[in-house]
Amino acid sequence: MTPLTEQDIRAAFVNCSKGEAKRLTVPRDLADRPWDDLDYLGWRDPRAPDRAYLVAVLDDRPAALALRCPTPTARQPRRSMCAICLTAPGGGVSLMVARKAGKAGQQGNSVGTYFCSDLACSLYLRGKKDAGAGARLHESLSLEEKIQRTVANLVGFIASVTA
Ligand SMILES: [Zn+2]
Repeated sequence: MTPLTEQDIRAAFVNCSKGEAKRLTVPRDLADRPWDDLDYLGWRDPRAPDRAYLVAVLDDRPAALALRCPTPTARQPRRSMCAICLTAPGGGVSLMVARKAGKAGQQGNSVGTYFCSDLACSLYLRGKKDAGAGARLHESLSLEEKIQRTVANLVGFIASVTA
């Protein structure tokens, strides 16, 4: 994906207020991120473990989401699968909940899906990060096809937030 600056990212949030977008934690090492290998950039807030964020570039425009990861009441089953990249990483998956954009969000509506807990879907897909034994299904799809599917899943999720 296209490398983004902190300013690009803060301006791209679709489901939080301008004030929240200004204050939330954006990684400081943006220049060192492996942008060429990313379908989206996702990160957890080191100061608030129940918060995560992601940004993707759709139709040449960045779109960013603020996410909550509710503390699971019971441990997630070990082999849960990420709904975005279809990996079952050793580090687990987390339910990530996004407040909907605009009026629907103000009324308390949200949508959620399971992501790799470390939001490293792109790196697992490309084998740049080890997801652990048995984390990926054997599929006859090419990497390019798996990437397309992952992006389609992500676009679908972002669309459900902005719908
Ligand atoms: Zn994933």
